[in-house]
Amino acid sequence: AKEQGRNSYQFYTEGMQDREMMRLELDKDLSQALANDEFVLFFQPQLDLQSSEINSVEALIRWQHPRRGLLSPAEFIPLAEESGRINDIGRWVVMAACQQLARWKDTPYENLRIAVNLSGRELDDENLVDHIRDTLKAEGVPANRLEVELTEEIFIQNIEHNLNQLSRLRQLGVHLAIDDFGVGYSSLGYLRDFPVDLLKIDRSFITDVTERHDDAVITRAVINLAHNLGIHVVAEGVETEDQLRFLKSHGCNLIQGYLISRPLPSEDLEMALEKGLLL
Ligand code: C2E
Ligand code: CA
Ligand code: CA
Ligand code: CA
Repeated sequence: AKEQGRNSYQFYTEGMQDREMMRLELDKDLSQALANDEFVLFFQPQLDLQSSEINSVEALIRWQHPRRGLLSPAEFIPLAEESGRINDIGRWVVMAACQQLARWKDTPYENLRIAVNLSGRELDDENLVDHIRDTLKAEGVPANRLEVELTEEIFIQNIEHNLNQLSRLRQLGVHLAIDDFGVGYSSLGYLRDFPVDLLKIDRSFITDVTERHDDAVITRAVINLAHNLGIHVVAEGVETEDQLRFLKSHGCNLIQGYLISRPLPSEDLEMALEKGLLL
């Protein structure tokens, strides 16, 4: 038993050392990733339930790692937030999204809007709004083609600063969406004080919305609350026709999820749109 105990102890520390090694290595690689052009944006379409059109897509970052393959944001965004590299990554995301919008000009996709994700840490950056304004201008993209998704964390700390940043963004004409709505710990007061255009109901409410009474009640209440405040609603993580029917019957404006499409590279998105595969 003693032997076994020691083995499992060693196994545990080795596991921890491996993780720490991997973290350090990944952080080192991350410092090269921008220069080596290793990030890519995938795009996940949002279906407008009223018009049955796709007018917007969410940009989701991926890291094409030279040895580890395609990494999801969960594998490197937290690390980038700790090291502060997230600010440069965020600037790259904004630039790549604007460049994509510029490429779509005078094509069948020229009306698409792109939503980018920004963390609270990125919003801390005083120069972020100027960077977004300058990038839109340099690429010749109207600000209302760009949407910014923020989670409720930004309403808990640095409220004055964040309100200022959001007002400036809104003034440019950029749309503002609250991501993962309902799982943050903030009060609802910000819906009164902040210029919000869109609420994205978190996937955790949608998964069982057709089976669980409480999820259905919450989802309906969020839709009504938002609509009474003049805010549109996106349901995230929609995977079944039943969920789609429920959301449509309760007036949800947009849905996003594997039922419509997984996040796709831009060429695959264009092909799917062209062939009408997403409707
Ligand atoms: P999020 O913004 O809530 O994005 C939605 C996540 O759910 C995406 O994961 C998407 O692929 C996944 N998803 C979409 N539809 C479905 C569905 O029907 N079922 C299920 N099970 N999952 C679905 P992804 O791409 O791995 O991104 C994870 C998170 O990483 C994002 O969550 C976002 O918080 C963060 N992230 C992604 N791109 C960026 C970025 O450019 N900057 C920052 N700061 N964060 C980002
Ligand atoms: Ca998001
Ligand atoms: Ca979300
Ligand atoms: Ca999320």
